[in-house]
Amino acid sequence: MRLTFRCPQCGRRYPPETRAWQCECGGAFQIEERPPFSPDTIDQRDNTLWRYRQMIPLPEGADPASLGEGFTPVIPLEVEPVGAVLAKLEFLSATGSYKDRGTTVLVSALANWGIDRVIEDSSGNAAASLAAYCARVRIPTRIFVPAYASGMKVSQVRAYGAELIPVDGPREKATEAAMDEVRRSHGYYASHALNPLGLEGIKTFAYELWEQLDGSVPKGIVFPTGHGTFLLGTYLGFQDLVKAGLSHDVPRLVAVQPERCAPLYHAHRSGADEIAAVGPSRETIAEGIRVTRPGRGRELLRAIRDTGGQVLTVTEEQILRSQSALAEQGLYVEPTSAAAVAGLDGLAPIDGTWVVPLTATGLKGAPSRSP
Ligand SMILES: *Cc1c(COP(=O)(O)O)cnc(C)c1O
Ligand SMILES: [Zn+2]
Repeated sequence: MRLTFRCPQCGRRYPPETRAWQCECGGAFQIEERPPFSPDTIDQRDNTLWRYRQMIPLPEGADPASLGEGFTPVIPLEVEPVGAVLAKLEFLSATGSYKDRGTTVLVSALANWGIDRVIEDSSGNAAASLAAYCARVRIPTRIFVPAYASGMKVSQVRAYGAELIPVDGPREKATEAAMDEVRRSHGYYASHALNPLGLEGIKTFAYELWEQLDGSVPKGIVFPTGHGTFLLGTYLGFQDLVKAGLSHDVPRLVAVQPERCAPLYHAHRSGADEIAAVGPSRETIAEGIRVTRPGRGRELLRAIRDTGGQVLTVTEEQILRSQSALAEQGLYVEPTSAAAVAGLDGLAPIDGTWVVPLTATGLKGAPSRSP
């Protein structure tokens, strides 16, 4: 099976090592032929997501660039007033967030292609994850960050040896600077939001749940959602299970956004089939999901509708309260992750098994502040 990127909007095909980060028409790439879910090929001795190596599309001859990510534990969690749910501990990953699921697959491909310069424009968990995996395979990495960005995540990126380029102005300026650099230097723009290889790592979240729930799937899953790659990757994984005849349907996929930055919520509620960018977002403590324009809006809206999902918003106060409630049970996560738990409130009463991923550790501390 030859790895090919395809634009779902116009049908154009691209070689996967293309330096384009999206189709000329603006569409977000998908992978043309994806391997099916095949339970017989699971490597039971491998306690990382690479136990699904046979189901992860990579270029011929590529080796996994792994830091031991995936196959995270599932534990019961009591959420007032909703009741018992299952928490999947995604913060137990090399860089402290679920982003490692996608990054391990993407960087495995980059190493195989001999990419010698990787460019990104995040100052959060995506940058930390990318910098770590690129360090693992010794690919020089350049991260464009808003000049105001600071805090543990930026320190973490620097510690991995990535080059940090501060860019004055709002967040979007860092994105523009990164894209200019890609055009000028022929570097690879390793976008967490847009690269479809990341989704092939994230889909293993669904495979793992199926194994951990003894061959069944939960009733629903609640995600803190910014670009929506966690939700969409999981959707792909569950669709694979349905196609393989191993599950009747896909769980209800519920997205939670901060009230202060909720473009998906507004699009969903108005019945739109694309997400309109909301104006400059207001500051939120859920910094990991402060995204004004998700990269795969159409797909995201469709996934939520097709699974009978919902989009909920939460206030800053609700997020902080959930963060404390989790810590009181021994789970210290960042506010972004607590947002999903706060969102459960809006679902009460629930029936059946509901899962919430705890997406990142709280140990990285307070978010970096924009002016
Ligand atoms: C990136 C991130 C998310 C959201 O992921 P998307 O794919 O952008 O929806 C959620 N939680 C944390 C901690 C993150 O870093
Ligand atoms: Zn296109």
